[in-house]
Amino acid sequence: MTPKQRYFKLIAETTIKSFAKRQIEAFYCEDKESAVQKALELMPQGSSIGWGGSQTLGQLGLMDRIAQGGYTLYDRLSAKTPEAVREMKRDLFTCDYFLMSTNAFTPDGHLVNMDGTGNRVAYLCYGPQNVLVFAGMNKLAPDLESAITRVRQYAAPVNNVRLDTGTPCTHNGKCSDCTHEKTVCCQLVITRFSAAPGRIKVILVGDELGF
Ligand code: SF4
Repeated sequence: MTPKQRYFKLIAETTIKSFAKRQIEAFYCEDKESAVQKALELMPQGSSIGWGGSQTLGQLGLMDRIAQGGYTLYDRLSAKTPEAVREMKRDLFTCDYFLMSTNAFTPDGHLVNMDGTGNRVAYLCYGPQNVLVFAGMNKLAPDLESAITRVRQYAAPVNNVRLDTGTPCTHNGKCSDCTHEKTVCCQLVITRFSAAPGRIKVILVGDELGF
């Protein structure tokens, strides 16, 4: 194991204990494949599953695995009309498992997320029976303030560049707390406790995933 891998494991163990105090169940997986296996182990066959847009989920390859069968999938991309999209977004509130990544997490057990339309953070806060949050160790920030800075000054501008929103950060790489009509920075959500014990489950992955 390299020093970096040993460090990831150590800080993940500390973080898992902090999450437990916040009624959030957490696991550490050393690589992407073991993270996929952990997710499949957590989700019984027959479960209904929805997910939010996420680079991390794509890099894990989990969606291909669950598409092989055994689950009921709420795939927003399969909805062809605005009405069907609206109906699916509503149905997602009742799914068994909602899958997402996080924009940042801290060793003392906070999750920090920025969202545009807000449906992803809405499902994190309320609705689905379980929420599985996948996080590469690159999402670790030393404390809450740094996590918010990471989200606002790094993850959000990158996301706006990815979506080519034309917001100020897509021209200079810097967040100016804009009110541009195309901003995808509408809801900043800090998760500090899970009211339902174990409803939120975090899978930390000893790899770089997403941004
Ligand atoms: S608030 Fe505006 S400037 Fe800041 S990251 Fe979001 S879109 Fe970019």
